[in-house]
Amino acid sequence: MAMQDRVYNFSAGPSMLPLEVLTRAGSEITNYGGSGMSVMEMSHRSKAFQKIFDDTQAKFRALLNVPSNYKILFLQGGASTQFSMVPLNLIGKTGKADYAVTGNFSNIAYKEAKRYGEINVAANSEDQNHTYIPTQEQLKLSPDASYFHYCANNTIYGTEWQYVPETGNVTLCCDMSSNIMSRPVDVSKYGLIYAGAQKNLAPSGLTVVMIREDLAGNELPFTPLMMNYKTMIDKDSMYNTPPCWCIYILGLVCDWLENLGGVPSIEKIKRNKAQMLYDTLDSSRLFTAPAQVGSRSDMNVVFRTSNDDLDAKFVKEATEAGLTSLKGHRNVGGMRASIYNAVPTEGVEKLCDFIRTFDKNN
Ligand SMILES: *Cc1c(COP(=O)(O)O)cnc(C)c1O
Repeated sequence: MAMQDRVYNFSAGPSMLPLEVLTRAGSEITNYGGSGMSVMEMSHRSKAFQKIFDDTQAKFRALLNVPSNYKILFLQGGASTQFSMVPLNLIGKTGKADYAVTGNFSNIAYKEAKRYGEINVAANSEDQNHTYIPTQEQLKLSPDASYFHYCANNTIYGTEWQYVPETGNVTLCCDMSSNIMSRPVDVSKYGLIYAGAQKNLAPSGLTVVMIREDLAGNELPFTPLMMNYKTMIDKDSMYNTPPCWCIYILGLVCDWLENLGGVPSIEKIKRNKAQMLYDTLDSSRLFTAPAQVGSRSDMNVVFRTSNDDLDAKFVKEATEAGLTSLKGHRNVGGMRASIYNAVPTEGVEKLCDFIRTFDKNN
């Protein structure tokens, strides 16, 4: 498929979607499957939409091998709403929970959870500006925690957990917003996984939650109806109007992933893209990647020169070369290349070429 007038967009989110998906959605935008209407205009109770919904759920379940005792929910409110929903629904067991703070979002999740119970910080990587992921041995776990919460990929700091924490009988909860579908996951090790869609799945407005069924129904008494997993499980995410358009696009993204060979194939592709980029940075004179080897993210590659003006020049010239949204997050500075599933290998190759040329000329 031709790139036409498109750029390689390294945005952290919302971010690139596969061109095939956009083209298909475009071709169906005024008349979905002979219905004479757009998916945007359809009743969520219609047969046509129910099929889109059921198919999307089934495709998602198949791609990630989600066991049958887990519900897949399609919710709104972004990953940030899960920062409240997780404690509201799960902390009632013992009133306590463990949190690993390894970046911006896990810190927000931790601060929000403190409103609802006694929170133990199992690890905090702030001592080294969140450039590393704690080892299993470094986790200070509480045996009486209702759950352990961590963020699998730190979108802003560019670090990623390369192992699944071992927490014994304590339920694992994970924010996978920025690396879901980039590697196989043994869902059965978790009680709950959530992901905002706008990094690796679909447009913003949809949050996917996978929850082991038996965990729902123990919410704190003041939990709002809309923030109760049980409400959404009982009505299969259709207690109210779900984010219909996003669910439809997620279905198309699942088709695209399936055609590529599923998650094991995409894992190889993304590993290759990330390795190529880190190798290029490591062998340059000008650039450094602060994330420590062994903790580096395959999804968000954070890097910089030693000079803010040179960083700005890099971002400006890259944009002119059709490589956009490379400016780092304001908390970190420098550059960040988010190379989610939909960023083609060719885009990363172009970025590597650009880095090498810039390194030579400056
Ligand atoms: C983007 C992001 C969030 C926030 O998602 P919203 O949908 O904006 O609420 C939370 N966690 C991680 C890991 C993210 O990358």
